[in-house]
Amino acid sequence: MSKKFQNFINGKWVDAKSGQTFENRNPANWDEVVGVFPKSGKEDVNEAVRAARVAFEKWRLVPAPKRGDILRKVGDLMVARKEDLSKQMTREMGKVMAETRGDVQEGIDTAYYAGTEGRRLFGHTVPSELPNKFNMAIRVPIGVAGIVTPWNFPMAIPTWKIFPALLSGNTVVFKPATDTPATATSLVEILMEAGIPEGVVNIIHGGGGDVGMAIVSHPDVDLVSFTGSTVVGKKISEVASATLKRVSLELGGKNAQLVMDDGDLDLALDGVLWGAFGTTGQRCTATSRLILHEKIYDKFLGMLVNKVASLKVGDGLIEGVQVGPCVNEGQQKTVQSYVDIGLKEGAKIAVGGAIPKGGGLEKGWFYSPTIFTDVQPSHRIAKEEIFGPVLSVIRTSSLEEGIRILNDTIYGLSSAVYTRNVNNAFQAIRDIKAGITYINAPTIGAEAHLPFGGVKQTGNGHREGGWTVYDFFTEWKTVYIDYSGGLQRAQIDNY
Ligand code: NAP
Ligand code: MG
Repeated sequence: MSKKFQNFINGKWVDAKSGQTFENRNPANWDEVVGVFPKSGKEDVNEAVRAARVAFEKWRLVPAPKRGDILRKVGDLMVARKEDLSKQMTREMGKVMAETRGDVQEGIDTAYYAGTEGRRLFGHTVPSELPNKFNMAIRVPIGVAGIVTPWNFPMAIPTWKIFPALLSGNTVVFKPATDTPATATSLVEILMEAGIPEGVVNIIHGGGGDVGMAIVSHPDVDLVSFTGSTVVGKKISEVASATLKRVSLELGGKNAQLVMDDGDLDLALDGVLWGAFGTTGQRCTATSRLILHEKIYDKFLGMLVNKVASLKVGDGLIEGVQVGPCVNEGQQKTVQSYVDIGLKEGAKIAVGGAIPKGGGLEKGWFYSPTIFTDVQPSHRIAKEEIFGPVLSVIRTSSLEEGIRILNDTIYGLSSAVYTRNVNNAFQAIRDIKAGITYINAPTIGAEAHLPFGGVKQTGNGHREGGWTVYDFFTEWKTVYIDYSGGLQRAQIDNY
């Protein structure tokens, strides 16, 4: 019997009103059902929003340092359960244990950061232009936050959103990806155990078009924080505009690593292996393009192909495995279709390019780590997000051209440059159009206490992480206190 999961609304575990369910399977072994989950709809969302609305009136009055105390406890519980949470995550979405441990750790870091933010949430005091008058701007909670998340960081991404939302005094209606509902449920259990009051956090399982859309279009949801694909992000932006709710969108990427002829090639090799094939390439910050200076092109490619051919593909629970499966059949098909497109466009496969056979991989959605060479910047495999273990290698003759190629995409999330020349490094930092630039480090590796997000069609200008996410989850209230005892007219009585 596979474990049966439920929604959590107003402090109670309940089935979907429809009574329907869906299964979640292990992508490394599709015979294994991780759990059965409620297939919810609009009615379930309506009930959760009602509960969150009522709970908001009390939660907003809890002092922020007290809210922070609860989040610190959440961090402690996550530390205690880190290994179990990581195992559950690997079974549910496939990435290797070292990475799921990192995913949980990012949640822990975010919990402790939020815990201390309760004693900051700084506002501003500003002098008045009039005598005997005091001016300040303070942060206030907004209301009900709708949280919609993808499957590739099943713990980290929900915590990036839910912890600052709660610390700021908002209540939450959370819809996790249908591929990772078990990890999301564990997070909600931990929040409750740490002392979050009833109704403050609600989770509704089910599909994006049903549950996700119902949250986004709900008139009583005040803000939406979404991470996922650019296509869905645009839809959300459109629908949410009908009620003018605040929306934070963290979307796709087509990140590149540029290696200059003055770069440390061994370091750049470690970087691209981790950046391109970590999480089976299924990261918004994954290295999807490798731009090589022509002087080191052949040498570096030789070093890289050997290493990629020896990457160990398999079940992420097994020690020594480096690359897990694609998250599901659809994702595996997408990868195969891009490999076909790359070949049709005239690129050449240096390694990989197929679904691996044998070796205990028969019942998983695996794909061999793949490198395309002879890729032109205009090729679709150089422009579109693939979200799998596929790397497109492009040649350049200068830093300027390399940066131009790097910028030549609709996305602008992460970027990496390997150079030992400080002038090159600073020029790259200045000219690369991306939310994140790494010098001598891969495109992946964000830390929880810094701003995270991208430019162009990677997002709509908000940042998660660090202090910046609190700008999204709070509203500014400007306060003027006149203690002069008379009417003082700004701009009029003083000039
Ligand atoms: P996705 O298909 O856009 O789904 C993301 C979430 O939105 C899921 O919970 C999904 O539900 C839901 N959803 C789908 N259609 C919806 C709709 N019409 N209305 C409301 N919600 C809807 O993305 P994904 O395939 O899960 O994740 C991969 C994408 O996320 C990639 O493009 C990646 O680059 C991006 N990503 C970005 C960041 C970042 O910070 N920039 C981080 C990680 C991932 P279902 O699960 O039911 O489909
Ligand atoms: Mg699954």
